[in-house]
Amino acid sequence: MRAKCRGIFHFLSVSFLCQALLAPASAQPDSSPPDLWKLANDPAQAHRFSTLFCAQDVRDYLSSESGLDTALQWCKRTGVTKVYIEVFRDGYRAEQKALENAKKRFLSEGFVVSGCVTTTRVGKPSTGWSDVASCYTDPATQTNLQAVFEYAASLFDEIMIDDFWFENCACPDCDRARRARTVTIGARSFPVSGDSWKDYRCELMTQLSRERLLAPAKRVNPKARLIIKYPQWYEDFQDRGYEVARETADFDRIWVGTETRDYTDRHWGGTVQYEAYFIMRWLGGIGGPKCGGGWFDSLGTTERTYIEQARQTVLGGAGESMLFSYGSLQQEPGPKDILALRGNVPELLAVAKEVRSRAILGLAAYKPVNSYPKDEQRVFDFVGMMGVPLVPCHEFPSDAPAAFFSVHALKDPQFAAKLSAFIKTGKPVLLTDGLSRSLANQSGLNLNAPNVRILPLKHDPKSLLQLGQQELDELRAPLLRPLNTAFRAPNRVGLYLFQDGSWVVENFADEKITVELNGKPLTVAGRGWTYQWK
Ligand SMILES: [Zn+2]
Repeated sequence: MRAKCRGIFHFLSVSFLCQALLAPASAQPDSSPPDLWKLANDPAQAHRFSTLFCAQDVRDYLSSESGLDTALQWCKRTGVTKVYIEVFRDGYRAEQKALENAKKRFLSEGFVVSGCVTTTRVGKPSTGWSDVASCYTDPATQTNLQAVFEYAASLFDEIMIDDFWFENCACPDCDRARRARTVTIGARSFPVSGDSWKDYRCELMTQLSRERLLAPAKRVNPKARLIIKYPQWYEDFQDRGYEVARETADFDRIWVGTETRDYTDRHWGGTVQYEAYFIMRWLGGIGGPKCGGGWFDSLGTTERTYIEQARQTVLGGAGESMLFSYGSLQQEPGPKDILALRGNVPELLAVAKEVRSRAILGLAAYKPVNSYPKDEQRVFDFVGMMGVPLVPCHEFPSDAPAAFFSVHALKDPQFAAKLSAFIKTGKPVLLTDGLSRSLANQSGLNLNAPNVRILPLKHDPKSLLQLGQQELDELRAPLLRPLNTAFRAPNRVGLYLFQDGSWVVENFADEKITVELNGKPLTVAGRGWTYQWK
């Protein structure tokens, strides 16, 4: 999928978008461009839109012919060409007849059809989030779980698992097993490497995935392929038993939560837009060809933030955007979001094709698997908002032209030596102040070298959003030099570079801005993006 253009630059397309794309829903006619279904089915597309019918949606929307007709039309008008029809959620198992009929109907209309399971209310309630999560140490819960996956595999060859496949129970049974350092599944037991909750939960979820999901599903249906969808909250994966190294190796495919929502939303807010790009690329690097796509929803969004989620998913290199979910998208703000999305689908597909045929360029951003943020929570997302182009990675980026390091890197036991060697190459290095403090007494490590810059987080990564343009321009200049790029821009602007010289600039602020890229002024609409492919 990687194509590099080494000859004379060809300007394939240049687009300066205006606010028109994000016009209020009321200003648009209540119909979508008629050709989205045809466009989306073009075999040359590099990206696909899909949606999920939750188990309750199967009951409420897909159990009658008229409900099926409405759903099919909605999908076609949205350019959705793949559907996931869910078998189980919140203790409810969808009716076999309804599932089979819906599957048959969608297949006959030319859709790709897969199944889904959401592991909520599977059995004994967890002591954490007891209304949805379960205690997976409990033998009866383990048995229920297996039955759900056997049922799903009897109906579908591909099964997505929504991001509730975690463990946060700390009941006496779990605590006893943790202290005994033993995971027990049926008659089998598995040793645990340590006695922390992280150690126990990661081992429990890894072994349960093998014993109660993957093996039984493939026994029932040898063609069954299971997809683990990782949540958007990447800093907490290991504490709740999401073990992205072993689970990615074990599962057939992975999916990525890119539901950043609205930063200022009272209930769902606090996550900046760049996070979707960061996690998509980081897990994309871990999963390689197993990484199928991103997944976002309309909770706590406006049309603008909904479209931003779609753009970041596409810029993250995803091959698919899963729109969660048909039922929830019928509730506010879903209909407005979908109307806005339909207006953007042709462009998103076109950009996806360009993105997926190119390799990205930027500062390596090193987050080892199972690494802890300490007080640098999600710092990568905020650095990306500063117009610093990142290339997320999970292994030390020895060959990168420039790199950003945070306390996450301390998970790597050889980090200090590797960093020392990297600094000696003279390539630009950006370090957080927290990491610099942690490394202060390392012998042989010269943090005062001229190519090293310290980024002051002051224990609060969010404070980076307050940095002014002058500070940012000065900070970026030496970091971007080996990328043959110069960029002057205010905060809350994303810069995405590609190895062939192509670029994307996305403005996350409401106001129109003028930035300077490689000496040329560039105007970008509020909440707009602009790009150039070479
Ligand atoms: Zn428990």
